[in-house]
Amino acid sequence: MEQRKIVLADSEIPRQWYNIQADLPKPMCPPLHPGTGKPVNPEDLAPVFPMNLIEQEMSTQRWIDIPEPVLEKYLLWRPTPLCRAINFEKLLDAPVKIYYKYEGASPPGSHKPNTAVPQAYYNKVFGIKRLSTETGAGQWGSALSMACAMFGLECRIFMVKISYQQKPYRRLMMATWGGECIPSPSDRTQAGRNILAEDPDSPGSLGIAISEAIEDAVGNKDSRYSLGSVLNHVLLHQTVIGLEAQKQLAKIGENPDVVMGCAGGGSNFAGIALPFVCDKIHGKNISVVAAEPTSCPTLTRGPFAYDFGDIAMTTPLLPMHTLGHGFVPEPIHAGGLRYHGMAPIVSHLVKEGIVEARAYDQIETFTAGVKWARSEGVIPAPETNHVIAAVVQEAERAKQEGKEKTILFTFSGHGIIDLAAYDAFLSGKLAQHRLSDEEIARALKGIENLPKP
Ligand SMILES: *Cc1c(COP(=O)(O)O)cnc(C)c1O
Repeated sequence: MEQRKIVLADSEIPRQWYNIQADLPKPMCPPLHPGTGKPVNPEDLAPVFPMNLIEQEMSTQRWIDIPEPVLEKYLLWRPTPLCRAINFEKLLDAPVKIYYKYEGASPPGSHKPNTAVPQAYYNKVFGIKRLSTETGAGQWGSALSMACAMFGLECRIFMVKISYQQKPYRRLMMATWGGECIPSPSDRTQAGRNILAEDPDSPGSLGIAISEAIEDAVGNKDSRYSLGSVLNHVLLHQTVIGLEAQKQLAKIGENPDVVMGCAGGGSNFAGIALPFVCDKIHGKNISVVAAEPTSCPTLTRGPFAYDFGDIAMTTPLLPMHTLGHGFVPEPIHAGGLRYHGMAPIVSHLVKEGIVEARAYDQIETFTAGVKWARSEGVIPAPETNHVIAAVVQEAERAKQEGKEKTILFTFSGHGIIDLAAYDAFLSGKLAQHRLSDEEIARALKGIENLPKP
């Protein structure tokens, strides 16, 4: 019998996260202070994040110890299984082996607690009482609510309004874990009031919600802001996924030819990819692919530029692929992939040609996701469907080329709380959506005068 699940004992959980900064052939451009145009220093970030996380954000140390209290919480659901998708392989009828890390195994059902837990821990030991954050589809808000409950912190979440209305169950998860969830734009902050004055019916966006959460956090010395993706320390925490996968693959003597993940802000993709990118930098022949939506094609069609992380232009300028901080994506259902920018680490790797990006339409992604559910069982999150579409494409290529391939990807989460998106797809209400060149050009006007990397 072929082995379907490769599991690690609790004692085999990785004890350190991997920091790619130590191995980059070319260093990254630094984030810039928006006022001075100079590289930001730790003190600039101190009102927003605790200093222990700022140190991680700027660290170039290769291995960083995972604190014991964080490991203890990780062990509630980690190590996650590495599974082989044999039924899906049969369905595709291509010369591929498909392995996936099942991150839907966490209590909120996605990879996000891999960073929510350490972020709550580092804030707690720094003496912080409350975290403010934003959430798109609600996965991050629910993950951080759970993590804050575990370490005795308060949690306030600004949720993109369109998702707040479409996805009541995530709001209830946040409430159950004790988080306070506010639809954004809201009248709680100046940033929110400004948007509402211009457009009272604004569906909200991650950029707007980030502005609200930062404003809310910096107004109070006992509170800090927390971000669920994009930043270096978030990607660092997520490397636990790829490090576990390497141990699991070693147990069965497998080496992936292709490593894939869906990319919104870039964290689950980086989580599986960065340990393998290290191998690639040191000479291994692996292709590493990020899958994004055609409706928010940050990596495939956005330029590499300095841009703000939020619409109110309060964050440092980050060197990244971006569609412009003023970009408000169509309310497509893959809520978690609707961010205008992309993690600077992932952007840098794409710019350097180490990582490849591909974009997929939502009809294609749901078609792939439904095939998956009918063969492998688990209903994938709409975001995860993007990487499944990429796997289908990769299998077709292998078939055409007559080449055997081993594919590894992060199954970033299950879709049980996102069934409204499946309703739209199954009842034919979902349309193809590709962002037009005019829309991109319009959104990029807003960053014309910023410094260039
Ligand atoms: C948030 C989320 C994503 C996208 O975020 P990344 O930072 O790009 O990983 C993808 N899949 C799921 C299930 C998510 O919750």
